[in-house]
Amino acid sequence: MRGMMMDSPLQIISLLQFAARYHGDSEIVSRTVEGPIHRYTYRDAYARSGRLANALKRLGVVDGDRIATVAWNGYRHFELYFGISGMGAVLHTINPRLPPDQFGYIVNHAEDRFIFLDLTFVPLLEAMAPALEGVAGYVIMTDAAHMPETKLANAMCYETLLEAESDSFDWPALDENTASSLCYTSGTTGKPKGALYSHRTTLLHTLGVNSAEGLATTSQDTVLPAVPMFHVNAWGIPYACAMTGAKLVLPGAGYAGDAMYEMLDSEAVTMSAGVPTIWFMLLEYLRTAGKTLTHLESVIVGGSAAPLSMIRAFEEDHEVTVFHAWGMTEMSPVGTFGRLNKRMLALPKEEQWNQKLKQGRAFYGVDLKIVDDDGNALPHDGEAFGELLVRGPWIIGGYYKDPEATAAAFDDAGWFRTGDVAKIDTEGYMQIVDRSKDVIKSGGEWISSIDLENVAVGHPGVAEAAVIGVAHAKWGERPLLIILPTQDAKPSAKEILDYLNGKVANWWLPDDVAFVDELPHTATGKVSKLTLRQQFKDYRLPEA
Ligand code: AMP
Repeated sequence: MRGMMMDSPLQIISLLQFAARYHGDSEIVSRTVEGPIHRYTYRDAYARSGRLANALKRLGVVDGDRIATVAWNGYRHFELYFGISGMGAVLHTINPRLPPDQFGYIVNHAEDRFIFLDLTFVPLLEAMAPALEGVAGYVIMTDAAHMPETKLANAMCYETLLEAESDSFDWPALDENTASSLCYTSGTTGKPKGALYSHRTTLLHTLGVNSAEGLATTSQDTVLPAVPMFHVNAWGIPYACAMTGAKLVLPGAGYAGDAMYEMLDSEAVTMSAGVPTIWFMLLEYLRTAGKTLTHLESVIVGGSAAPLSMIRAFEEDHEVTVFHAWGMTEMSPVGTFGRLNKRMLALPKEEQWNQKLKQGRAFYGVDLKIVDDDGNALPHDGEAFGELLVRGPWIIGGYYKDPEATAAAFDDAGWFRTGDVAKIDTEGYMQIVDRSKDVIKSGGEWISSIDLENVAVGHPGVAEAAVIGVAHAKWGERPLLIILPTQDAKPSAKEILDYLNGKVANWWLPDDVAFVDELPHTATGKVSKLTLRQQFKDYRLPEA
């Protein structure tokens, strides 16, 4: 027997329609590439998304066409999120920091028809264009007054396109399983792989993210996604804010500490989310400039592990609650959220901070398991660790046009292999031990590079730390700690090792400490261990 309720398909445009209708005056504030701060409302954004959809139609865009964006967090990018998916095409956000060969590969693999780009990226696209096979035109996201001279073939001006159109667009009733958006993994090893989301998975993920156990944005919040809209849909925050009518603050290219502080302060931001690198920069700025955060209530840290020193600095110095979250492109992306349970909230602060080192609990919609090398499920006892597998309605079912990668990505029961190594405790809190390829295998035991890095950055002379395994005759591999010192600090290797001593197991202590002027980062802001391993390939440990 079938239920007798309305069969109303889940559609991305419905989020913005809802925001325009019930939170029409709520603001979207953007730092523009052209310079000034731009502000308008959800009502305006919806009207302009209609114009955009009409413009796309006039350009000949049809259902399923992939339309790429190369853009910062800004209001025009927000309109593209809704206009492209809403009219039945597929929004393909591209990370401009990708190496050129990967950039070219994904445009050609996705067969993008048009590319929308911010002014910043005109030189990048001019350089890339000869390698981009099927692109019919480039839309520069600016107004006529700022249109640059460009070598790009068929270059159009975003505002000129929109001016010619009407606000009203007849949004098609799409099957909710229609593809809505496409994101490629950053491909630190091998070629990038495409995760093709649907309207349904995006809406379900948005409901999960906004559930009380997730980020839970509300109409009282002002939210600044410090995670770029070119990286897994800014963790779904643009959709989540439209669902609740939260005021949205889009920081453009302004990720440096001073620019972030200015936006957080002047717009009275209550919630922000980003990778540790962004927070390192902000905290360092606040410390040196002697500023405190007065409006911010919570930060969400994800993408890489949040170290104790960071959690502490936010909570102790600025009274900002830290939520540690974990996920990945293949998971839309949020999978776990570090909201403390009742028992933990009664603990002293120090112990709460230790709990926050864990990446949190799955929220409804995500199921986790850890397995040993033979695929047998391991207990959730907080001790056993193994590969983390996930399943659920917003988790990838196969990579876009990539049967080879798809074949390797799932276990026999259909769970997705994350490539992360984790433990899960008796209360369901998951802690990432490492990426399976980064864990250091020493004498048959595993050393977590993440744990060592977390402790090392607690030393006041350490700005950023990375641990890699290097070959060792007796143990197979031993940890090498690589440090970027804070400005003007000159800690010695001995000082750092003394600091670690007693804070980690004895046999985990790195065999050596190397100092660098810069740590390599991937296109998504994580320390690139691959590059570090190449840089240190000829390095020999003192006693090896
Ligand atoms: P991406 O697909 O670029 O979002 O990267 C996903 C990967 O980032 C995960 O598989 C993890 O290895 C890593 N990651 C994400 N969040 C965290 C976190 N909170 N702590 C440690 N690693 C994380």
